[in-house]
Amino acid sequence: MTVDNRIPALPAEEYARRQRRVESAVPELWDLLDEVKDPEIPVISLWELGVLQEIEQRDETVVVTITPTYSGCPAMSVMEEDVVAALHAAGHDQVRVETRLSPAWSTTWMTDAAQEKLRAWGIAPPGCGSADVAAVIRCPRCGSEDLRKLSEFGSTACKALYQCNSCAEPFDYFKPI
Ligand SMILES: [Zn+2]
Repeated sequence: MTVDNRIPALPAEEYARRQRRVESAVPELWDLLDEVKDPEIPVISLWELGVLQEIEQRDETVVVTITPTYSGCPAMSVMEEDVVAALHAAGHDQVRVETRLSPAWSTTWMTDAAQEKLRAWGIAPPGCGSADVAAVIRCPRCGSEDLRKLSEFGSTACKALYQCNSCAEPFDYFKPI
């Protein structure tokens, strides 16, 4: 028998989020909102990003709870509009989006699938586990760790700009928080 002795890195809040989806009374709505992607990274859904917290049917209204990635992140209002539009398109006329600020979103809430998709998209992922353990940054193109930082800020404030010394690829690194 194989024993999986990796240290479980899932934060309690992220575990609870996944349980809410598993135990949801409206699983079809979670599936529906898998179609809503991060406007800045259109291969990653709000679920995979860790932003989508809860979906409930309260009487006639679908209530969706999201936690913003970064305060003042300009993509959040687009995400809200996209959630409402997706539910309207599926015939849910009454939709309310609520924002939960605490606990604050963390890159550790991203699913493993999201980390892989980030890499394939050309962004170095923030890494799994605790944000205070320095993640190994690798070039998303060739995997090299021989890098230099060009700027603390990349295409958006939540990313830093690096360049790979091995293959010369410039890339964004999604900073862990
Ligand atoms: Zn490289």
